[in-house]
Amino acid sequence: MKLAETVTFGGSGLDRAAHLRGDAAALAELLAKPDTGVLPFWHGKPLIAGQGRDRPAWQAVDHPVFEQADEEPIFLGLDDGVARFCRDISCWEPDEALETLHQFLDPSEQHYPGMPEDERFSELRAIMTHLSPRDAELVTMAKAIGSWHEIHGFCARCGAKSEISMAGWQRECTVCRAHHFPRTDPVVIMLITHGNSVLMGRSPGWPEGMYSCLAGFVEPGETIEAAVRRETFEESGVRVGAVEYLSSQPWPFPASMMMGCRGHALSTEITIDPTEIEDAIWVTREEMMETFAGNNPKMKPARKGAIAHFLLLNWLRDTLD
Ligand SMILES: [Zn+2]
Repeated sequence: MKLAETVTFGGSGLDRAAHLRGDAAALAELLAKPDTGVLPFWHGKPLIAGQGRDRPAWQAVDHPVFEQADEEPIFLGLDDGVARFCRDISCWEPDEALETLHQFLDPSEQHYPGMPEDERFSELRAIMTHLSPRDAELVTMAKAIGSWHEIHGFCARCGAKSEISMAGWQRECTVCRAHHFPRTDPVVIMLITHGNSVLMGRSPGWPEGMYSCLAGFVEPGETIEAAVRRETFEESGVRVGAVEYLSSQPWPFPASMMMGCRGHALSTEITIDPTEIEDAIWVTREEMMETFAGNNPKMKPARKGAIAHFLLLNWLRDTLD
């Protein structure tokens, strides 16, 4: 697919400078440079600046906010030569109410005392389409690797405490010395078509009228193609023949790699698995155009920024090739 990398979080060619991760002297030098920026994260939410023209709110290495951090900064790379790091400050307890913190879409924003008024911790889902491709890449990688550290404080081999190493790109066990590497979970998401129609489904608990492409985790020992066929059949009862890869999207909620594919349906009868999805339907191209135009009272368009929206839009525009 020619437009594959234009998807949200599709990347901006950031120089991750991985050769510096094990070079303590070079990292210390970068951390001492006045233009180096560190992005604070709080419970997976990046510090964002600029209402309406959102961007990461980079802070100086020695900003007092980092007194709340209990691990080292993670090195993200060089943004046109300027070093970028991120650092978790989840120990901080803000004054605001936190009821919505771990909901699907957390609308709350937290303001750190003493920071400019427009700087706040904000849910990435809410602002992801406002960021430039470079900022989106930096924030996505920071969120994904930060989430990994958050739940990997102990060694998967022996259970002892592990500690951050390689500027955040590994954890090392303090007892058995095993090295652990950041994980990415592969997910297939598929545009299943039959003639002029596309297969859409909805999960229980989604906002009313919201439908999206079917998706599911790739299982151990499975190819992408086999996962597309198995997940589609399990969820909808529809048999799929040829499968083509279209585009991929890192999706840091918390650690997925969405692999967008097109699958050609061999059957059309739908039998849903109610434990996985609530409904599945065939939607014609004309109905989908009305949905994208906001004129379909029965269905809402897929969320902008998500790869499902991207795949459906390119299907409507006939630009999947
Ligand atoms: Zn261990």
